[in-house]
Amino acid sequence: TYTLGPKIANWNQERKVWLDQNPEFPNYVNNRARILLVTGSPPKPCDNPIGDHYLLKAIKNKIDYCRLHGIEIVYNLAHLDKELAGYWAKLPLIRRLMLSHPEVEWIWWMDSDALFTDMVFEIPLEKYDNYNLVVHGYPDLMFNQKSWIALNTGSFLFRNCQWSLDLLDAWAPMGPKGPIREEAGKILTANLKGRPAFEADDQSALIYLLLSQKDQWMDKVFLENSYYLHGYWAGLVDRYEEMIEKYHPGLGDERWPFVTHFVGCKPCGSYGDYPVERCLSSMERAFNFADNQVLKLYGFRHRGLLSPKIKRIRNETATPLELVDQDDIRRHVLHRS
Ligand code: UDP
Ligand code: MN
Repeated sequence: TYTLGPKIANWNQERKVWLDQNPEFPNYVNNRARILLVTGSPPKPCDNPIGDHYLLKAIKNKIDYCRLHGIEIVYNLAHLDKELAGYWAKLPLIRRLMLSHPEVEWIWWMDSDALFTDMVFEIPLEKYDNYNLVVHGYPDLMFNQKSWIALNTGSFLFRNCQWSLDLLDAWAPMGPKGPIREEAGKILTANLKGRPAFEADDQSALIYLLLSQKDQWMDKVFLENSYYLHGYWAGLVDRYEEMIEKYHPGLGDERWPFVTHFVGCKPCGSYGDYPVERCLSSMERAFNFADNQVLKLYGFRHRGLLSPKIKRIRNETATPLELVDQDDIRRHVLHRS
């Protein structure tokens, strides 16, 4: 069967030796685990040219979040393995980055169509000390209902360790495009509640793997639903004004969603589940909602959530440093605990 590469069996030990020999590349800096956020998009331009503009907005949004929180970022445009094109492309990429960056403790995959909408919230990594995979999901939907949306692979974190390499190896075999992916799709549709008939996708394959080999994997998988590591856009984008009125960034949950993910939208091309116009205006709102949190630091905000135009929110001052203390998101985070 298909493999991601030569079997690696002793990664924890080898990585530890490397870290000991390379103290200038520590996996923890100031007591915080080093995180690498990984995202990407297909190698070619979008069929719908406006899609490329939204990909640009989506990467700007991620760069902003990562800069404010000291997270490194990779944008991938290549198919590292031709067999695993499309949504499966994240698997060989994550594996490659783990092996090439032993200094990284957590690899955080985020889809191109997922936006940070809470620029203050930080992932509570302490919670995951004993876990190797963190993914948004619901145990009931998973183990009782066997639903194909029990978890979402648009935003998840893998610890850089042997367990994760093993999980990637176990996850990949349904991925090769063509007859393997097609046949595997039939198995997934037959076993997962609500799944339409189509080729095997990475999300269904992960759910199926965790269901069928629960004892082997689940003790190291954290199904997170106390905040929106992934938040389904349809229930969120129309409520941003209400959130602004009642709440504030930093909450990360339904009051102020950490991530808004445009599941079912395909602004770049091919066919999505929603009209492209609705997707694009909703993305515009999510982007501007987030961008306002960034612009605030510089004394501006968008005129409205659908407007690229901005306006001043305060007068220029001769004593700018007072405002830095007041508005810099990085300070809110540091002063939290
Ligand atoms: N992706 C990629 N290269 C590809 C296709 C997809 O990097 O050739 C990434 C992209 O970030 C995308 C994610 O994989 O958001 C999931 O793929 P899917 O086709 O499900 O796209 P989505 O529905 O999220 O737009
Ligand atoms: Mn997506």
